[in-house]
Amino acid sequence: MTTPRPETLAKLTPVLTKRWLSPDAWRIGTYEQLDGYAALRKALKAHPDDLIQLIKDSGLRGRGGAGFPTGLKWGFIPQGDGKPHYLVVNADEGEPGTCKDLPLMTHDPHALVEGVIIASYAIRAARAYIYIRGEAVHAARRLRNAVQEAYDKGYLGRNILRSGYDLELVVHSGAGAYICGEETALLDSLEGFRGQPRLRPPFPATHGLYASPTVVNNVGTIASVPPIVLGGADWWKSMGTEKSSGPMIYSLSGRVANPGQYECSMGVTLRELLELAGGMQPGHNLRFWTPGGSSTPLLAAEHLDVPLDFEGVAAAGSILGTTATQIFSDQDCPVYATYRWLEFYHHESCGKCTPCREGNYWMVRVYRRILAGQGTHEDLDTLLDTCDNILGRSFCGLGDGATSPVTSSLKYFKQDYLDYIEGRKAPKLSEKTLVGA
Ligand code: SF4
Repeated sequence: MTTPRPETLAKLTPVLTKRWLSPDAWRIGTYEQLDGYAALRKALKAHPDDLIQLIKDSGLRGRGGAGFPTGLKWGFIPQGDGKPHYLVVNADEGEPGTCKDLPLMTHDPHALVEGVIIASYAIRAARAYIYIRGEAVHAARRLRNAVQEAYDKGYLGRNILRSGYDLELVVHSGAGAYICGEETALLDSLEGFRGQPRLRPPFPATHGLYASPTVVNNVGTIASVPPIVLGGADWWKSMGTEKSSGPMIYSLSGRVANPGQYECSMGVTLRELLELAGGMQPGHNLRFWTPGGSSTPLLAAEHLDVPLDFEGVAAAGSILGTTATQIFSDQDCPVYATYRWLEFYHHESCGKCTPCREGNYWMVRVYRRILAGQGTHEDLDTLLDTCDNILGRSFCGLGDGATSPVTSSLKYFKQDYLDYIEGRKAPKLSEKTLVGA
């Protein structure tokens, strides 16, 4: 007997997005009128350990892709160690197709600022950083404005709301490297070094920023904290599924009628999201899609009813990732799409380890050959063999992620590759792209 699906799953559940359509929601006056900073006032009256327990009880899991339990991460910070503690918000959103953090910071920056203050108080940090992607100039401007407004109103700085708690918050813009979204590369970049991943262990919880205990959390994770403080753990858990609680912002792009951000309870399916988004564009039929950005294995039309939570997507052989659903139709080519993603990973590889640096370089060349009509059947074995030597052998997740579109497109769409190789499909690239390959 199957368990009936809760009705809430198929509906919009605006929690993090609820203020986005309010005029001037990014200004502190509007934010305060709409419950803004009420959670902070409540949190500052609680013991920090009780806040950590509340987040544990809510079941909140990281919204940056890994889905690690947030309360557990906060609980790893050693207390009474005499070292400074830091909270660092990873706002370096740069995965192709991913667009949930930047609109949140643009439309509702105070939601993030308030979450930062509560989270910092919980882990007993006196300094916090928001590391924002360098290209996100407008969002950074909004964020800096919000931080200044929060200082002016006494929500930041010394003796916040006369609680005796002090916090300094710095917004730091990166230089546009995708690898700085990897938390240890981000910390290196923040310290002024070239952003490259660090060897772990030790982990940031004990040796993070300036070798001190550090929590690194995604924007969506931290912005979820004020509503949990106000609504309680049970309310949060009333949305979503048993192991993936709460709402999630799903960003839909590609061949969909109304692309954009749709906030729904976790566990919603792509079929339901497409209904909310007005369906596919006229004349297009779904063929393949990413459940969570380009570094998650592709899914096909047969996966329309997969629950989009951590467990459901994993059971279908992919990863929930950043919930960036990129929608492709029968008029799109999975081989070409994979090639374009690989170009991205090749360009963004930091070069620290051989499997990723060399593997992506060679795979891009193999794809160019196939798409120029000069591929061979052996090329397909070469691609799988190269992925086998990147996956699990790379220094960080970028290398692993680069193999996802390759192996999954070969799994579901091998015929498309064979059509190029055996001459049934016209070349997509000219032979000029092979010069120097
Ligand atoms: Fe750098 Fe790629 Fe190695 Fe990560 S996997 S350390 S991005 S070369």
